[in-house]
Amino acid sequence: MTHAKKKKGSLEIICGPMFSGKSEELIRRLRRAVIAQQNVAVFKHAIDDRYDNTNVTSHNGTKLLAHATDSGEHLLAKALSENYTVVGIDEVQFYTTDIISTICALVEAGARVVVAGLDMDYRGIPFGPMPTLLAIADSITKLKAICTKCGSDAHFSQLLENNRPTTINSGPLILTGASDKFTARCRGCHEIDKGFDYNEYRETQF
Ligand code: ADP
Ligand code: ZN
Repeated sequence: MTHAKKKKGSLEIICGPMFSGKSEELIRRLRRAVIAQQNVAVFKHAIDDRYDNTNVTSHNGTKLLAHATDSGEHLLAKALSENYTVVGIDEVQFYTTDIISTICALVEAGARVVVAGLDMDYRGIPFGPMPTLLAIADSITKLKAICTKCGSDAHFSQLLENNRPTTINSGPLILTGASDKFTARCRGCHEIDKGFDYNEYRETQF
């Protein structure tokens, strides 16, 4: 007996530190999907209020109209009811881990899901749902910014305090509308008292 297989979708991830061009790349991919006459939607976390509360905006000013929600459940309901074939999600690291099941459900339903997010927080520790999403993705693009101290490729987001690098590794992870509180740094120039410690991380995760 043959039965038609429902076509599944895919998950693409664009990750990297702040200023690496994640939003730019997300916008580029989604604009191409619009040109290809796909039914495209982009979501962003409701707490990411940088520049504009209804647009996904890159640091260079490029914009795309977005739905703001902090709920994976709402995102899923909206995306399914509107039959979006391409779903973008910016700043995906801000969502709680329920975004993982939302994304899996969209991919199962046939959507091409393109997400952009910080792979690490400012301490250099894997950010929220990102490690799992990276493991299940069909494709991963890890972008680099430019280190503002030495000009090398930068993988890290450096937290600033009074425009000076801070080595503090505690405090809120989410400082929204706050790109002026961060700069991009390479591994050698990233200043932090204590960054990623695998043994410590493992105790909190597994
Ligand atoms: P992200 O979403 O990764 O934070 P954006 O797409 O918002 O990145 O912004 C990328 C743009 O930021 C670059 O095209 C460039 O114009 C600008 N920019 C500012 N500072 C830096 C930096 N240190 N390294 C690279 N790009 C930077
Ligand atoms: Zn450097």
